[in-house]
Amino acid sequence: MKHILGYRCTICGKEFPYTELMTCPDCGEKGILDIVFDYDYIKKNTLSREKLANCRDNSMWRYKALMPLKDRDFTPFLRVGWTPLYRSNRLGDELGLKTLYIKDDGLNPTASLKDRASGVAVAKAVELGYDTIACSSTGNAASSCAGNAARMGLKTVIFVPSRAPEGKLAQLLIFGAKVVSVLGDYKDTFDLSKAAIEKYGWYNRNAGINPILTEGKKTVALEIAEQLSWQPTDWVACSVGDGCTIGGVYNGFHDLYELGFIDRIPKILGVQSTGCCPFVDAAREGRDLIPAEENTIADSIAVGVPRNPRKALRAVSASNGTWIAVTDEQILDAMRVLGRTEGVFGEPAGVTATAGVRQAVADGVIKPNETVTVINTGSGLKDVKNALKAAGKPTLCEPSLEALEKSGIL
Ligand SMILES: *Cc1c(COP(=O)(O)O)cnc(C)c1O
Ligand SMILES: [Zn+2]
Repeated sequence: MKHILGYRCTICGKEFPYTELMTCPDCGEKGILDIVFDYDYIKKNTLSREKLANCRDNSMWRYKALMPLKDRDFTPFLRVGWTPLYRSNRLGDELGLKTLYIKDDGLNPTASLKDRASGVAVAKAVELGYDTIACSSTGNAASSCAGNAARMGLKTVIFVPSRAPEGKLAQLLIFGAKVVSVLGDYKDTFDLSKAAIEKYGWYNRNAGINPILTEGKKTVALEIAEQLSWQPTDWVACSVGDGCTIGGVYNGFHDLYELGFIDRIPKILGVQSTGCCPFVDAAREGRDLIPAEENTIADSIAVGVPRNPRKALRAVSASNGTWIAVTDEQILDAMRVLGRTEGVFGEPAGVTATAGVRQAVADGVIKPNETVTVINTGSGLKDVKNALKAAGKPTLCEPSLEALEKSGIL
C-alpha cells in the first residue's frame, strides 16, 4: 500500500514493514503499534480539502485515503460515520460555555462510535479473506462488530462479560453472532477471547491490540474538523475505557495537522468515571497505570486494565489536554441535561464526556470563552435501565381532564 510506510512500536519505537502484524515482535502484547502514513504521498495523490469538499460519500469512507485498507468500493458496507455535529443551543449556557458543539455518534448504524472501528475491522477481514471475526467487549465493540459483519456475510464470535446491558446483548443476538457470556470481569473475558482467537485463527477485533481500530475511530476527529471548516474547537472531550477512542481522536487531528489541513491540534479532555479511572489516577500521581476496580454504571468505560494505555496517554499529553473523573451521579445528571437541553439521548459512557466538560469548566480548566466539542459516544437506547434511573417515573393519571389537572404534571 503506497500510502503507508509501515508500523512503529509505541514502546520501543522500532519500525516494521506493513504486513499483517498485530503487536511488536520485540515487545510482545504490550507493544501496541502505530501505523505510519506517507503524508507526502497522500497529499500529492489522494486527498485534499478541495477533493473532500466535492466528495459526496456521506460516511467515514470519504477518508479512505487515510485508512489502512486497500482502495475499494465501500458502498456494500454499512454506512458508518458522518454523524451530525450540532452547535449547542442550550447546553453551552447550562455548562457555562459560549461555544459548544455536540458530535452525536449515537447515530451510527449500531448506535455507537464503535462502528467506526468495527467498520474498518470488517473491511480488513474481507480484504484478507477471513470468514469469521471475533472480539471481546463490554458491549458496543461487540454489537458493532456483529452488525457490520452481518452486512458483509461474515460470521462473528463474541465474548462479553456477563454484566453487559440487555440492549447490547439483544443487538448481538439479532445480528446472528455466537455470543459467549463469560462469568467474570472484562479481563477474564478478554483473556478467553485471546486464547480462542489463537486456537481457531479468527480475525481479531480486540480494541486494545489491533492497530487498525484506532485508525477507524480517528474518523470522528476528521469529521469534526471538516464539519467546522478545518477550524476545530479549542477542546475536544471524550470518554475513555480501553483508550482506543481517545487515541484515535488524537491520531485524526495529528493526520490533518501533518497534511496541513488544520494549523493546530485541539486540547483533548479524557474523561472517566470515579468508579473506574486508572488513567486519571495515573496522570494525577505521575506513574504508570495499575489495575483499577470496575465500579460504575458507565459499563462501556468500566475497564480496570486498559489495553491501549500508550496511545491514550499520548493523546492527552501531546495535545496539552487534561484527564478528569466524574461520579456516576454526575453522569446521570449529564444524561438528563443533554436530553432536556438538546434532544440527544446518550448511554452513561456516551454522556460521560459532557459531565467531564461541566466539571472542567467548574474547575477553571476550560475557560468560558474557549470553544469545545463534546462527543456522545453511544445511544441511550442501549441501556434503558440506567436511563430510567436518571429520568425518574412518569405521572400516573386517570383518563379524565379533571384527573389530569389534579395530577400536578402540568
Ligand atoms: C468503547 C466506548 C467508549 C470508550 O472507548 P475506548 O476505546 O474503550 O476508550 C466510550 N463510550 C462508549 C459508548 C463506548 O462504547
Ligand atoms: Zn516494540
